[in-house]
Amino acid sequence: MAQIGHGYGSEWHLMQTMGRLRVHFDDEVKRTLGAESIEWLDCNGFEDGVGLREHLQLDFLGLASAATREAWRVAWPQSGNVPNWDAVGKARVNGVDWWILVEAKASIQELHSKCNASSDSSTRKIKAVFRSARRALGITTVKDEAWLEPYYQFCNRLAILSFPGLHGIRAKLLMVYFVGDRSGPGRTCPADENAWRGAIDAMYQYLGFGKNEHVCNLLFPAFPLAVSDRIEAVSDTIPVRLVDGEHGTARIVGNNAAWLCPCGDRLPLLGTLFPPPRRPITVCPGCGRRFELYRRQDATGGVLDSVREIAPA
Ligand SMILES: [Zn+2]
Repeated sequence: MAQIGHGYGSEWHLMQTMGRLRVHFDDEVKRTLGAESIEWLDCNGFEDGVGLREHLQLDFLGLASAATREAWRVAWPQSGNVPNWDAVGKARVNGVDWWILVEAKASIQELHSKCNASSDSSTRKIKAVFRSARRALGITTVKDEAWLEPYYQFCNRLAILSFPGLHGIRAKLLMVYFVGDRSGPGRTCPADENAWRGAIDAMYQYLGFGKNEHVCNLLFPAFPLAVSDRIEAVSDTIPVRLVDGEHGTARIVGNNAAWLCPCGDRLPLLGTLFPPPRRPITVCPGCGRRFELYRRQDATGGVLDSVREIAPA
């Protein structure tokens, strides 16, 4: 799962939208798909160190479609990052059930990616899957390379959707484009629907892709954080207890502490308190001294209490 931004980026906006604007969002999804109903799958379980997991590849099809999932796994390289979905749902359209595979975007940069296959055999497999996808989509005008960069992710989503091994499984790709995000420098966030439409048209043209009833675009407003939702960094100080009995001072914000090592290194050391049993150790790159953060219990469960140097073994 990509790093999620606080208050910006497609993952944040989709989480906020599906959590806090679910009814409105679902109405817009139904209107876009021409669907009577839409239901969303929960995340694909929890994994320690990973968090809530996204649905990968065709795994959401479940045990009943083991042969289909296996056919895809054979066709597509399984090393490195495999295609994943921002959300997976099931919609009823004219009385028929469809899988809805969601990919969300909040900036032009999020549209861009390239194939990073690590071996020739992986690249060959990807090109072969892409060729059969283009055949299924009736695209004859572009070469292999155009699908490897710079819209590689969209292409591999199309490839799953057009995978011949799907054997009658009905699936639509729902692209959710958030309008009006504020992602900061280096990110171009379309401020209105026309700007997104221009970018989408350019992508389609580059890929030789035309209109397809199984690829739907939903342009949805991004709601950036109100000022009051922003985290305000309130600094406090705690003692740094050294092995030789001397004390220093660390500045803390939330669960983070910064302090200067007594060796004289001019850049501060940084420590973060994680929930037990994780007890990360901060090592000074200048002298190798090691430090640990300690908490004391309070009404909210625990606050930073001190930084302590760990005695050399
Ligand atoms: Zn040091």
